[in-house]
Amino acid sequence: MKKALVCGAGGFIGHHLVRFLKKEGFWVRGVDLKYPEFSPRDEADDFVIGDLREIDTWSKILDTDFDEIYQLAADMGGAGFVFTGDNDADIMHNSALINLNCLYALAKRNFKGKVFYSSSACVYPEYRQTDPNNPGLKEEDAYPAAPDSEYGWEKLFSERMYLAFHRNYGINVRIARFHNIFGQEGTYEGGREKAPANICRQVAMVIDGGTIQLQGDGEQTRSFLYIDDCLVGVRKLMNSNYTYPINIGSDRIISINELARLIIKISNKQNIQIEHVGSKQLGVRGRNADLKLAKEVLGWYPTVSLEEGMRNLYQWVYEQLKTKGLVDKLQKTEIGFRAK
Ligand code: NAD
Repeated sequence: MKKALVCGAGGFIGHHLVRFLKKEGFWVRGVDLKYPEFSPRDEADDFVIGDLREIDTWSKILDTDFDEIYQLAADMGGAGFVFTGDNDADIMHNSALINLNCLYALAKRNFKGKVFYSSSACVYPEYRQTDPNNPGLKEEDAYPAAPDSEYGWEKLFSERMYLAFHRNYGINVRIARFHNIFGQEGTYEGGREKAPANICRQVAMVIDGGTIQLQGDGEQTRSFLYIDDCLVGVRKLMNSNYTYPINIGSDRIISINELARLIIKISNKQNIQIEHVGSKQLGVRGRNADLKLAKEVLGWYPTVSLEEGMRNLYQWVYEQLKTKGLVDKLQKTEIGFRAK
């Protein structure tokens, strides 16, 4: 039986990945600061609560031979967490330490399996994302580097470190640049949630005829990839021989206003108003993924439509709030980002 280690298994993508690997027949150990919030902790064969910034944690979790390691742990959140500037030092320090320790521990053990690193579309330079009709960011567009957040800079540094350990220590790396992964069983409140979950929460909580809030003018564009497609892409990448960064995202671009209207339509509420507030946390103006390389190298392309994925997310968020007695209660909801 093949063995996999999932770092960040208490998080959104990590716990979905644990489930996916179990279905594929792996023995799986998860590790995280916390257990998954929305799924049973015993989905993994073994779950270690540990801080991956500590090198001792790596010694503990690498006490058995793994065929595959998935490094997803990071100090991260949505725009409200990443773009205020208030969390920059923690984001860079915590995530870099995790990746530094990971690679040092693997090189020291002469690790012969494969290691997956989850990078991000945030590595791409701001100057290539000023057009809301962005035709799609190609992998080579990452340079000359100019990410618009410290989160993106840390991802770019870590990508390069994984590649350096590949060259100098023979570590067998796979690197995906995720573009806005969404789906059920992820953070939907508290300030770290991403735009899709945030809008679903607001729409579910507001009464028909009420108002939700969007950050900025809502004309900024993004593309969104459903979690099931993401996991298939990750597995195809792991099974490939490709060691350079590759986009795992969607090439269907949509403005945040259009996304909000789609979620309102899904909710069956007839008359929800959209109020635009602030401008501080907009991020780049237009971001989209070019999937040519993923198609060529992995034979992978998303299969779940945005509508179907958002319907699944909305229904799940609605059910979560319903059990707390919070649906259809408010005249007006607020974004709830941790902005100062
Ligand atoms: P998430 O925040 O839900 O999961 C990350 C997990 O890492 C959390 O459970 C957190 O507790 C854990 N973690 C943080 N610091 C840790 C530490 N010191 N020790 C142990 N565990 C620690 O995020 P996610 O959405 O599941 O993202 C997974 C990975 O994919 C991250 O590296 C993220 O940067 C990357 N990514 C995600 C997206 C997206 O749209 N979700 C987009 C681009 C990149």
